[in-house]
Amino acid sequence: MTKPLSDHSRLCIHTMTTKPWSLHEAIDGYAAAGVPGITVWRQHLEPTGAREAGRMLKDSGLEVVSLCRGGFFPAHTDADRQKAVDDNLRAIDEAHAIGAPLIVLVCGAVPRVPLTTARAQIVEGIVSILPHAASAGVRLSIEPLHPMYADSRSAVNTMKQANDMVAAIANDRVGVTVDVYHLWWDPDLREEIRRAGDSIFSFHVCDWLTPTRDILNDRGLMGDGCINIREIRGWVEEAGFTGPIEAEIFSNEWWAGDQAQFVERIRSAYLAHC
Ligand code: ZN
Repeated sequence: MTKPLSDHSRLCIHTMTTKPWSLHEAIDGYAAAGVPGITVWRQHLEPTGAREAGRMLKDSGLEVVSLCRGGFFPAHTDADRQKAVDDNLRAIDEAHAIGAPLIVLVCGAVPRVPLTTARAQIVEGIVSILPHAASAGVRLSIEPLHPMYADSRSAVNTMKQANDMVAAIANDRVGVTVDVYHLWWDPDLREEIRRAGDSIFSFHVCDWLTPTRDILNDRGLMGDGCINIREIRGWVEEAGFTGPIEAEIFSNEWWAGDQAQFVERIRSAYLAHC
């Protein structure tokens, strides 16, 4: 049995979780609530630019856990694949500018590009941005997405596929992100988490609601759904991961409410259910 967490020292919140807040508001809100970690989504960098965002983050004392998100490599044409690579190179520059040591990759998929082709394009895309990532001191993490997103968001849908890619690329700058929302259903999850070992670069939590009313934006607060979150945390810790536990909750319902209260709810749910 995995023990409950005794404090908030490993809590990190994604700026998308508090989507209505600007980056500035999120920084202030998390700091005021005693949330030590922040994962920044690229759209929250746009209003100020990465350089100014980096200054704000540095002054805040928050730990920048990662930048979300890179990826989306597959495309129908070479020109579009090159555009994706160029965008990932910019993401690496942004990560460097805000002091993020990691970029999470939502690897991509495009309707009518066969999944096997998409997976080959993903590996090729990651390999092509690795030199730039290395020179910026940024690591890259493959995040498998639930198979319901295999049409248009990610051709990587299981830990096994992510582990196989990490093995094929064979570069210690490339690892995996375990997100309980995408992976909880997988009968091989514990075994594949064990196999991933120290290539687990990050860990995302939220919950699966029944019924799920929106395929993208109806994720639940931890404890409101059916995912064995604490057990899965035990598995990633068995594999050696001791890093931040990141609340990544896309929710039209929570976004419609008061974000400071939402952060308080996340803090209590984190202790009760993670
Ligand atoms: Zn995630």
